[in-house]
Amino acid sequence: MPTATKVNLLNYSQEALKDYFRTVGEKPFRATQVIKWLHQMGVTDVDQMSNLSKDLRAFLQEHTEIRPPEIAMEQQSADGTYKWLLRLDDGNAIETVFIPEDDRGTLCISSQVGCALDCTFCSTARQGFNRNLTVAEIIGQLWIAKRALQRDPKGPRAVTNVVMMGMGEPLLNFEPLVAALALMMDDHAYGLSRRRVTVSTSGVVPALDRLGDVIDVSLAVSLHAPNDALRDQLVPLNRKYPIERLLTECRRFLDKKETQRKHITWEYVMLDKVNDSDEHAQQLATLLRGIPSKINLIPFNPFPDTRYKRSSNNRIHRFRDILVNAGYTVITRKTRGEDIDAACGQLAGKVNDRSRREIHFARIEQRVNNNENKTDPDHRPTSSKRPNAGLRH
Ligand code: SF4
Repeated sequence: MPTATKVNLLNYSQEALKDYFRTVGEKPFRATQVIKWLHQMGVTDVDQMSNLSKDLRAFLQEHTEIRPPEIAMEQQSADGTYKWLLRLDDGNAIETVFIPEDDRGTLCISSQVGCALDCTFCSTARQGFNRNLTVAEIIGQLWIAKRALQRDPKGPRAVTNVVMMGMGEPLLNFEPLVAALALMMDDHAYGLSRRRVTVSTSGVVPALDRLGDVIDVSLAVSLHAPNDALRDQLVPLNRKYPIERLLTECRRFLDKKETQRKHITWEYVMLDKVNDSDEHAQQLATLLRGIPSKINLIPFNPFPDTRYKRSSNNRIHRFRDILVNAGYTVITRKTRGEDIDAACGQLAGKVNDRSRREIHFARIEQRVNNNENKTDPDHRPTSSKRPNAGLRH
């Protein structure tokens, strides 16, 4: 369990750690040394930070800790994809996925436990929203993956790209997101270039505007539909920030000064007979005209009880061809990790459902113990009354 009086060093960007050191009377440059030990060397004990003075190490031992999430489960797919289920201090679970390719290794990072945005094709949405992740819980996913990938049986792998595309809407957890992004791009931490760090949003327009002002990263937008009527159904946030408003903000994002932003990546999940017709492709081509764009077509990854099916390969090819003929760069994402719980949120959803159920039962039992003489049958912890209906397990 976390120690109430100790601060977690993984919660600090370099600037924030300098501020902390100033407040405790320590030289700010020590923050750079500590950040290197934490994120480049992956140390787990301040006594390993050999270039710090003995006094500073003693201070850090007493007042701080290095506390990443715990690996609850590691799955590796036959195609090399890793999925980690990470257990947080409060018992919640999140997922992190590593997708190896010949020329890169992409880590998909979560930003929230569950998600409030309720996209109808999304496994994470089934859990509802639980809470935002801390900086330590976001950057801790990269910290853990970097260490774990050193042990890959086929030889060490590196994380070359990060996408904030796991569980949750990153722009609704703004401050911790930005601090974690700063660490990813900090030369004393992970040193990833801004082209290799991508924030994926479903279109939280005001936060997108702020993001463009405070940090220079690549942007992916989960579009999934070429018109408001359909996007209202698939991505309910569209009712608040409709497509035209979102596109206007995306153009502004690309236009912000002193950036290297070259294009927006549009994510488009391919749902059989929902958003995958020729007409949809033509609408999409017209919609994005004039915006520097890459389009990622994502074959839908089915999960239990979903109403959607994956578009056929022929349909995806046809859809892609229409966009390519209209002049777009189109990438059809390969389905990866199909032999593990691959749809984002699927694995954590099982655990979070289970932990919610346990909490629910614990509350019922406590209530019954406190009210032994009361006889509300619905609150008895008998197996026949346990509310399994509606839970997936
Ligand atoms: S697709 Fe993304 S934004 Fe939509 S519900 Fe799922 S996690 Fe949330």
